[in-house]
Amino acid sequence: VDQIQTWKSFAEVEKLKNPESKYKKDDILNGKVSLFQGDITKLEIDAIVNAANSSLLGGGGVDGSIHGAAGGLLRDECSTLGGCNTGDAKISSGYCLPAKYVIHTVGPSVGDTGNLPRDQLLSCYRKSLKTAKDNDLRTIAFPCISTGVYGYPNKPAADVALGAVRQFLEENRNSFDRVIFCVFLEVDSALYKEKMSFYFPHG
Ligand code: ADP
Repeated sequence: VDQIQTWKSFAEVEKLKNPESKYKKDDILNGKVSLFQGDITKLEIDAIVNAANSSLLGGGGVDGSIHGAAGGLLRDECSTLGGCNTGDAKISSGYCLPAKYVIHTVGPSVGDTGNLPRDQLLSCYRKSLKTAKDNDLRTIAFPCISTGVYGYPNKPAADVALGAVRQFLEENRNSFDRVIFCVFLEVDSALYKEKMSFYFPHG
């Protein structure tokens, strides 16, 4: 968790400002948002979000890593949760993970119609944050939901993620101490670094 840069220090180091932003400069809110590149299963926080599938019984990608690191008891609990609809979220214990809880959300799978299921992806972020808040959890990390096997393009997915978190934090100012965007790939790291100055303008 040492590697997590607060947005404040990130902004100061990178000297990023965005005069084009439509969002108000808000250093308290912005100081709660971090960018971390690496394995979400290593984070010692209240909750990590899993980009699960609707069975909640495990799969590939980040889902496989989380189930692998949490151990078999996670699957046992997940099998009692009754699955999960796209855009919804369910919570379980974290078992062998350093994170106390896992919030499982099911991102939309992008078909070949050309229409992006933006509302469903937005709902994943909002429902996950609401689930954390309802359980009095103060720190949470998100992977880049739907951008792997589910095929949501990275750039619009980053806009949904950052916009959803910004809006939720504005509506629930005192609910969280830290929200971490856990990117795994270089492409997402670059996108988030660029876009954070728009959604969380500093200085
Ligand atoms: P989805 O099915 O929702 O597309 P994926 O797991 O295929 O989910 O991919 C979602 C994102 O999670 C991708 O950016 C992928 O690179 C990333 N990812 C994979 N493993 C991990 C991990 N251990 N920690 C954090 N992110 C991960």
